[in-house]
Amino acid sequence: MKILVINSGSSSIKYQLFEMPQEEVIAKGLLEKIGEEKSFFIQKSKKGNLELEGATPTHEEGINFIINILTDKEKGVIDSIDEIKGVGHRVVHGEEEFVESVLITDKVVRRIEEYAELAPLHNPPNLMGIRAAKKFLFATAQVACFDTAFHHSLPNKAFLYAIPYELYEKYKIRRYGFHGTSHLYVYRRLSSILNKQQNSLNAITCHLGNGCSIAAINQGKSVDTSMGFTPLEGLVMGTRCGDIDPAIIFYLLEKGNAPQDLIKTLNKKSGLLGISGISNDVRNLSWAREKGNERARIALEVFSYRLKKYIGAYLAVLGKTDAIVFTGGIGENNPWLRKDTLVGLESLGIEIDEEKNSKATKGVESEVSKEGSQIKVYVIPTNEELYIAQDTYQIVQAQNKV
Ligand code: ADP
Repeated sequence: MKILVINSGSSSIKYQLFEMPQEEVIAKGLLEKIGEEKSFFIQKSKKGNLELEGATPTHEEGINFIINILTDKEKGVIDSIDEIKGVGHRVVHGEEEFVESVLITDKVVRRIEEYAELAPLHNPPNLMGIRAAKKFLFATAQVACFDTAFHHSLPNKAFLYAIPYELYEKYKIRRYGFHGTSHLYVYRRLSSILNKQQNSLNAITCHLGNGCSIAAINQGKSVDTSMGFTPLEGLVMGTRCGDIDPAIIFYLLEKGNAPQDLIKTLNKKSGLLGISGISNDVRNLSWAREKGNERARIALEVFSYRLKKYIGAYLAVLGKTDAIVFTGGIGENNPWLRKDTLVGLESLGIEIDEEKNSKATKGVESEVSKEGSQIKVYVIPTNEELYIAQDTYQIVQAQNKV
């Protein structure tokens, strides 16, 4: 069964076409700079790589373009769109309502639209993808997979902020948590690698990409996570500040900064970029550090120190922890970061193996802890698209049985 996975962002659409349940990727591609003068398109498939340029003014045109490429007589990988039996969409915010992936009905669309208030940068472009896919693949089942869903199990002691309770009741201000598909995907992989049932497996999963978050998972349930009401809270990120004292915001407002500028400063000009003044990309910062750049060094140190503090906190939350997992572009590709973060935690049962850690191969699931380490450390490449394809496949299968 062919399942198309769509991740529709503000100016880009990422997609993958899977053959399920074999989990084979038939084609994967990216359309970037939608709405700009020139859009860029790249697709990889058995038919080779395809790179195109041209204007794509809207997401609707973008989805139409992608479908035309997939079904193109020469470059295409399928004969007709009827072969696609399900479309899985990444949706960032599902509020408290969506605790798992769901078939998209008109009501679901209305809800995602409503919850755009909580995720103004993400839910609207996600919806554009859904609406366009519904238009061109109107007979195909569409499924929404929410970044927030996996964290629905957070207990109220973890999701409530210590602000007047009425603000939670009135505005739903609480910790939601994000990157749920990635945390759950690597946790499931861990369960399979360790051959351990989820009901006996506790883990801390670190998703370190452009956005970064960490989750404490107790017997298959997320019990705490670092991102909060929005994806701005928690760990230091590429351009986002993570945790700061909220009084800083009022102080800067009093100093004459406009609210809109502050939002931009904290989301786009902070984090690794903000401290280093050079780049949000860990690769550039590592090079700069090697050349003696002091601000690059301190930016990376603040990054791993914050991560270490969260790991310590989540070890306390979980009590017994079986494993720590690193994933995401930063977590998967930077042995020094894993080492800097975990060094000194030997008395807590975490012993990283320098050789295994430095040899962990890109894209491969690897254990990087010492043989006798009480808490295992793994690098597990994330695959959110595959997770969405798995959920979509199951929902479509279940629907076909009705
Ligand atoms: P996104 O969250 O947008 O999916 P990624 O998971 O790709 O982002 O992570 C992007 C980050 O991963 C960047 O900071 C980049 O420095 C880092 N990264 C990606 N590939 C490598 C690599 N080969 N070596 C070191 N760092 C990498």
